[in-house]
Amino acid sequence: MKTQAAVVRATAQPFEVTTLELDAPAATEVQVKMIATGVCHTDAIVRDQIYPTFLPAVFGHEGAGIVEAVGSDIVSIKPGDRVVLGFNSCGRCAKCLAGAPAYCENFMSHNFACTRLDGSTAFSDNGEKVGSHFFGQSTFSQYTNVSARSVVKIDGDVPLELLGPLGCGLSTGAGAILNSLDVKTGDTVAVFGTGAVGSAAIMAAAATGATTIIAVDIHDSRLEQALELGATHTVNSRTDNPVEKIREITGDGVNYALDTTGVTAVTRQAAESLAINGTVGLVGAPAPGSEVTFEVGASLVRGWKFRTIIEGDAIPQDFIPRLVHLWRQGKFPLEKLVRTYSLENINDAFADSKSGEVIKPIIVF
Ligand SMILES: [Zn+2]
Ligand SMILES: [Zn+2]
Repeated sequence: MKTQAAVVRATAQPFEVTTLELDAPAATEVQVKMIATGVCHTDAIVRDQIYPTFLPAVFGHEGAGIVEAVGSDIVSIKPGDRVVLGFNSCGRCAKCLAGAPAYCENFMSHNFACTRLDGSTAFSDNGEKVGSHFFGQSTFSQYTNVSARSVVKIDGDVPLELLGPLGCGLSTGAGAILNSLDVKTGDTVAVFGTGAVGSAAIMAAAATGATTIIAVDIHDSRLEQALELGATHTVNSRTDNPVEKIREITGDGVNYALDTTGVTAVTRQAAESLAINGTVGLVGAPAPGSEVTFEVGASLVRGWKFRTIIEGDAIPQDFIPRLVHLWRQGKFPLEKLVRTYSLENINDAFADSKSGEVIKPIIVF
């Protein structure tokens, strides 16, 4: 079938909206008619090939839509089902079988290859292969063939055009707080960077009853928004030293510090703002080869931990519906982060995300 899609043809080139051919879904795939898809920083990273993938390719990995058709092996999903799409995983490795698909041993081949495992692609352009299955999805297309493990069924009463970002960025931030760090009522939390992932972390921390939630950013407008989302304090790290400010607010530092920036100097600041037995989590993605240094002499006695976090330790089929419930209760007001764009204006969506004007752009089909 024909589909309108946004294609990246070469490294760091803008998205080109064009008509592609989409093949029939393979036996283990689900064909989805897209309603909307979030735009995530990771799409910009692969457009620029900081993480290399097959090119040309269709990216996009925060899709929401309606099932159009299913492959011959699919029994639990049927045409007409309303779905949000999460990350992909192999389902067979030790990590997947242990309930930790975010650490799938085959994560890269299932999310970043932009081909099926046999090397084929779902999209083509006049006979030329065009990469598909980015995060099992490739959602910058009206129609796309999706890995069944990416598919999460959603109840009928919630607006799909809003929920695509639950598939990656927002579940990463919320999952870091609720799953990875396991923040509890009364805890103190600092969130470094208040983009989409950091904003989701702040909403989740507020929902779980953390009583001191400190947002750190360099943009005052974002810090004001963080207060609306549940932050109790803000620090502008351009004008103030965040480590000193956090100690001023908390006395001995925070139980949990989450770095969503991927800036290695910020990761160190996050570690230095911990209380005794605190944990720093890293969800931002520094370029491969990046290194962080930590003070470990004087801080040895403080028993602190550092951990990296992928996809908020979420199991999409379990965690995304939980976030939908929180949203329904008004405890995860993601609509405050969103601006919508048409597929034709996808490059504007990326520009507005980069400039910081919009926290979470959503392409609506
Ligand atoms: Zn696996
Ligand atoms: Zn993402």
